[in-house]
Amino acid sequence: MKIPIGISACLFGQNTRYDGGHRLESLLVEALARSVTLVPLCPEAECGLGIPREPMRLEGDPENPRLVTVTTRRDLTAPMQAWAARRMNALVAEGIAGLVLKARSPSCGKRVAVHGKGEGKTASSPGFFAGLVMERLPTLPIADEEELRDPARLADFLARLPGRAAPSR
Ligand code: SF4
Repeated sequence: MKIPIGISACLFGQNTRYDGGHRLESLLVEALARSVTLVPLCPEAECGLGIPREPMRLEGDPENPRLVTVTTRRDLTAPMQAWAARRMNALVAEGIAGLVLKARSPSCGKRVAVHGKGEGKTASSPGFFAGLVMERLPTLPIADEEELRDPARLADFLARLPGRAAPSR
C-alpha cells in the first residue's frame, strides 16, 4: 500500500480557491501519484469559509500573525486554529507522511507576506495552516509545488518520506 501524503486540494485540481478555481499541477500530481496516495485538503474551504469566498491575508506580528479577510476585515484566526487542531489530529491518525502545499497562499504557503495595518508588507511567515503544522509536526516533510517542479527537489522530498517512496517510472 502506498503511503498517504496530504496535498493542497487546489493543486490536485479541485475548485477550492477563493475565486472558485483550481491550480492543478498535473505533472506533479502524476509524478507523486506513482509513489504515494494523495489526500487532498483545503484549510479555507474545510473550515467553513465557503467557495467562492473573500480573499484573506496574514497581518500583524510576523511571529504570531492573524488571518484576516482583505475587505470586510473578518478575523478568521480563531476558527482556522480550531479547525487546524482537529484536522491535524485526523492527519496523524491517517498516518499522513508528508504534505505538498500551495506556494504563496495565506493558509497553505511555506513563506507568505505578512501585512501591517496599511498596504505595506512587513515581513514573511509560513501561511496560517502551514505554520501550525510546522509547529505541531516539525519533522513532517513539507514542500510546495514551486520547489517540487525541480526533479532533484522532488526526488529529495520523496526520499525524506518514511519508507523512502522512491519515484517509480
Ligand atoms: S491554497 Fe490552500 S486554502 Fe487556498 S484553495 Fe488551495 S488548498 Fe485551499
